[in-house]
Amino acid sequence: MKKNNYNGSRSESALSILDFDAIGEEHLTSASENPTTDKLFELSDAEKKDRIADLFAEIMETLGMDLSDDSLKGTPQRVAKMYVEEIFSGLNPKNMPKMTLFDNPYKYQEMLIEKNIRFFSNCEHHFVPFFGHAHVSYISSGKVIGLSKLNRLVQHFAKRPQVQERLTNQIGQALMEILDTDSVAIAIEAKHLCVASRGVQDDSSSTLTFFYSGAFENMEQKKLFHQQIDH
Ligand SMILES: [Zn+2]
Repeated sequence: MKKNNYNGSRSESALSILDFDAIGEEHLTSASENPTTDKLFELSDAEKKDRIADLFAEIMETLGMDLSDDSLKGTPQRVAKMYVEEIFSGLNPKNMPKMTLFDNPYKYQEMLIEKNIRFFSNCEHHFVPFFGHAHVSYISSGKVIGLSKLNRLVQHFAKRPQVQERLTNQIGQALMEILDTDSVAIAIEAKHLCVASRGVQDDSSSTLTFFYSGAFENMEQKKLFHQQIDH
């Protein structure tokens, strides 16, 4: 399987799906991309669900589970549907939320913070959840987007097998592109069930990651951002 190269060539089907996205997903996700192959574009959602259901049934059978039991019978299909339509739907650029921009009608020039954006993601190393809150801030260069779009953007990138560092960077880079601004700050605090429920089994620790660009690289601006989110 050939790896998808976001900076160069890809199959025709990939191009046509990417073109479907008015914003140009290629640009938005080129910074720190999730490792993917052409299968992302070659298989339809229905084909993905069929194959995942078959393969998940095999996992359950291998574990010794009885798939003729009424409670388990539908599980492979349920998992497949959940993967493709819900928790991993963000892998496909066609599911990128539409980001309509507006002129900055209030001539507001300070930072705007959307705080405590709840997200659920899954660790790509263990396929178990990590979840928490993202705090997203930007300084407009003349355009603004609807507040709920900030939530949708976070949730789009979270709905992938992920690592928190990449998630943080992807949201930051995407916002810079969408809003055509240099000044974006992201802070994410999350609990990882791969740390809490297995392995070292520490359910009190959480992980914090940050992204700063433009004006937020300045210590004073960084402090202002943190004064607002750190309580
Ligand atoms: Zn993990």
